[in-house]
Amino acid sequence: MFAMANQEKIAESNTKKVGTPLIPIFVNCPFCGQELMDKDKKIDSLPAIHLHAHQGQDEGPIWLSAQYGSFVSIDNMSIPDGEITKFSCPFCKRILPSRRHCDLCQASLLILNLTSGGAIEFCSRKGCKNHYLEFQEVEALTHFYDMLHLDYSPAP
Ligand SMILES: [Zn+2]
Ligand SMILES: [Zn+2]
Repeated sequence: MFAMANQEKIAESNTKKVGTPLIPIFVNCPFCGQELMDKDKKIDSLPAIHLHAHQGQDEGPIWLSAQYGSFVSIDNMSIPDGEITKFSCPFCKRILPSRRHCDLCQASLLILNLTSGGAIEFCSRKGCKNHYLEFQEVEALTHFYDMLHLDYSPAP
């Protein structure tokens, strides 16, 4: 019981610390599990995150930078700043889920799974810079750090 409460605390305290720029993120679809990294489309020198965007009557492919902290994206729909965009998986076509709203602008926060475990949530409003990594389990966070070859040791 005590150990579990302690673990939750560690996970929570690390949620915020991970928000440092220049961390590459690798994601997959929360529904079909398909990896969304597009090796043929590079942004910030990394395979970009390939999604499908829906904006009013328009829809089309969109690529987002996989560099955490970067907001570079490529699409051919010219989505205006301030507009809320729906995103779907290009493979299973399901709309990305959301379980809460952005605390900066109240638009939906959309969820993608991190391949290392855990999830990333990002704001669906173009131009809003709110997004963050979330790890439910310490194990997933440790794995994430391992993958980045960063020095991370959980509190004893
Ligand atoms: Zn999918
Ligand atoms: Zn927002």
